[in-house]
Amino acid sequence: HTKNTGRNGHHFFQKSMNANAHNQLQLLNDLRAAIDHKELRLHYQPKFVAPHGPVCGFEALLRWERHGVTLTPDVFLPLAEKTGLIIPIGEWVLNEACRQLHQWHLEGHPDWTVAVNISALQFEQPNLLEKVMEIIEYHQIPPAMITLEVTETTAMRDPENSVNILERLTQYGVKASIDDFGTGYSSLLYLKRLPASELKIDGAFINELIAGSEDASIVQAIIALGKTLKLNIVAEGVETAQQQNFLTEMGCNTLQGYLLGRPMTPAQIAAKPDSEWQAHPANNKSS
Ligand code: C2E
Ligand code: MG
Ligand code: MG
Ligand code: MG
Repeated sequence: HTKNTGRNGHHFFQKSMNANAHNQLQLLNDLRAAIDHKELRLHYQPKFVAPHGPVCGFEALLRWERHGVTLTPDVFLPLAEKTGLIIPIGEWVLNEACRQLHQWHLEGHPDWTVAVNISALQFEQPNLLEKVMEIIEYHQIPPAMITLEVTETTAMRDPENSVNILERLTQYGVKASIDDFGTGYSSLLYLKRLPASELKIDGAFINELIAGSEDASIVQAIIALGKTLKLNIVAEGVETAQQQNFLTEMGCNTLQGYLLGRPMTPAQIAAKPDSEWQAHPANNKSS
């Protein structure tokens, strides 16, 4: 009897494993075709000067329109990274973000900038600088209007090499931002040497941020560290007016989060009146 249950259990387990492997394979096949089928999209989330604006740039966030469903990166990026598909996808992202930025500049927003997330594999490609230069020159954008966001974890995988890569990129003129800061294991010695201009505090520290909390002390310490290194400090995942005010008091320069603006399609951005992107006088932003 026990043996039977065991067998059935085993059988069931194998079936569900197969179903899962099948789904992943299907996902991979579809993802391979996604660029050609024009199913990839970029949404853009605004970054605001603390506390109420104006907008100082947008972060490009990848979406995949698959069978009428909008997928976020957590569903497909790990697979893209594992299989190397992130390389052509990442190139598409950079090209599309630059195309969009050029368009915004023509449409009367000459001061807008765009930030693009760079994956670990992409960051380690020997020809990353060449690709970046080629795309930026094609779209005729000042390199300083492009920020490359690299996570702390990626930057610290091989810190000596990262210093090298970022030095070449920033000498060309693009900006570098250390993303998801606080979740990796930074060597302060290398952090000091990284030619980044911005540090983004991971949303995990902002979620439950209230005065006097442990998170508040950590955020305060990160801000102090960033200021010492003369970095612009961005908080991601700002969802409440309390967090907005508190982060501003603590000296955070830039705020990003659902409170101030969700990731939006270019059409949604164009539909907003220009005043939406200007400074707001009081705590009156609620969408
Ligand atoms: P990230 O770069 O740290 O981006 C922030 C994520 O937090 C985004 O999720 C954004 O939609 C979400 N977010 C923004 N404000 C809030 C908020 O107030 N509350 C909460 N709960 N979440 C907020 P998303 O778009 O799903 O992207 C997830 C991650 O995927 C990104 O984290 C980034 O690491 C990666 N990613 C996104 N687009 C690309 C891309 O084009 N290339 C690469 N390599 N990675 C990308
Ligand atoms: Mg980012
Ligand atoms: Mg981040
Ligand atoms: Mg994050």
